[in-house]
Amino acid sequence: MSTMKKSHLFYLTLIVLLDFGRVSAQTTRPDAERKLAHDIYKEFVEIQSGFTTGATTPVAEAAAARLRAAGFPESDIFVGGAVPKKSNIVVRYHGTGALKPVLLLAHIDVVEAKREDWSMDPFQLNERDGFFYGRGTGDDKAQAALWIANLLQYKKEGFKPDRDIIVALTADEEGGGPYNGVAWLLKNHRDLIDSEFALNEGGWGESAGGKKISNDLQVSEKYVVNFRLEVRNKGGHSSMPVADNAIYRLAAALQRLSNFGFPLKTNEVTAAYFQQMAKIESGPMKEDLARVGKGSQEAMQRVAAASPAWNATLRTTCVATLLEGGHAMNALPQLATATVNCRVLPEDSVEYVQTTLRKVVADDQVEVKLLGEPAPGPASAQRPDVLAAVSRATEALWPGVPVVPIMVMGATDGKALRIAGIPTYGVQGIFFDRDDIRFHGRDERVAVQSFYEGQAFLYDLVKTLSKTTPVAQAAAHNGRFYSPQQN
Ligand SMILES: [Zn+2]
Repeated sequence: MSTMKKSHLFYLTLIVLLDFGRVSAQTTRPDAERKLAHDIYKEFVEIQSGFTTGATTPVAEAAAARLRAAGFPESDIFVGGAVPKKSNIVVRYHGTGALKPVLLLAHIDVVEAKREDWSMDPFQLNERDGFFYGRGTGDDKAQAALWIANLLQYKKEGFKPDRDIIVALTADEEGGGPYNGVAWLLKNHRDLIDSEFALNEGGWGESAGGKKISNDLQVSEKYVVNFRLEVRNKGGHSSMPVADNAIYRLAAALQRLSNFGFPLKTNEVTAAYFQQMAKIESGPMKEDLARVGKGSQEAMQRVAAASPAWNATLRTTCVATLLEGGHAMNALPQLATATVNCRVLPEDSVEYVQTTLRKVVADDQVEVKLLGEPAPGPASAQRPDVLAAVSRATEALWPGVPVVPIMVMGATDGKALRIAGIPTYGVQGIFFDRDDIRFHGRDERVAVQSFYEGQAFLYDLVKTLSKTTPVAQAAAHNGRFYSPQQN
């Protein structure tokens, strides 16, 4: 891109910001820091890093180039990964060493996006009507860009933390599998990312009707289990159909699945979440949310029916996502298959889900095959130093907005870290409309104001967590407090 065009774009950006008045300077960092965060964000979003068609290496290299230019020594920057296209970057900013390091994690791969599915180019950072649009704007390149922008700022200020601050931007979170950056780093370079605890995606701010209602802190997550439903049949000529048809059998099984719901229930984290939501909510659901927090089945049914997100918080879910069948237009099908994607509560086992699916399918001709070797992860202990620091940074920016510990429905790399003994907290301070979450979907976006507020929030939060404070010391001495729903 030519310099002229670049400055032209930046000029346009300024006009848009002024025009819409979306960026209130009170809750954001100074202009120069916002511009830096914006430029890194734009650079990251515009590099295609879809997990099958793209590469994360150019993102890692772009971050490395900025760090080198800012004077980070080569010995503190690591770029590498499972395969050449799937590089991760890990950078260490040295502290006094009084405390064990903190790890700041974000993934730099994205879910695929097709131009024809979007109303604009998904690999341009488009700013429109007060939003940044583009694949990865929310998941997870905002946090990746903000970690780097803030680290550059700490360096510029000469900030001296009491612990090393490690930033790791990693590959293949979306695809999982053998090239996952966090798994690869844990296995091959644990020393680079070893830390007392980590901050990651998975917890964001929730707003409703334009009002901020909670700043979520993710401490546990559901895990993914995939099944393949298979029906085999001897087939035959389509001119002489018989009743026993693989496609019809599969369709009937899927119909039964579509009518089924796993039991509604809460665990320690989600019960606390609904109690908090009851305090925040002013609408007709207020009473029901409080009852859910106390275990009422009837209230759970109404709450689950009111919102897909609440439904997914209250139960394990399984849904058909892929379908294949038959081999010719004029032949009876010999094989029909469906992939069923389950998002399982940490306390529900793989065996339980598989047994339940078999009962629901209720046809021994329909095989329910488990794919892969899924494993649930433990919840992170609710460390008082992390909770206190998140609450303090939240109160400073958004007075009155509560911090709510949550379990998320999606999966993150935090699970691998938790299994490896590094408690991980999903926290971003970037607010999204809870009824319009577009991660993985069409026209993914982040409000411009929210992006810059997230920058200010994470800037404060990491600084607080990097200094010895009475809260941090007490937490370090007392160790774990409690760890809900471990099993
Ligand atoms: Zn993500």
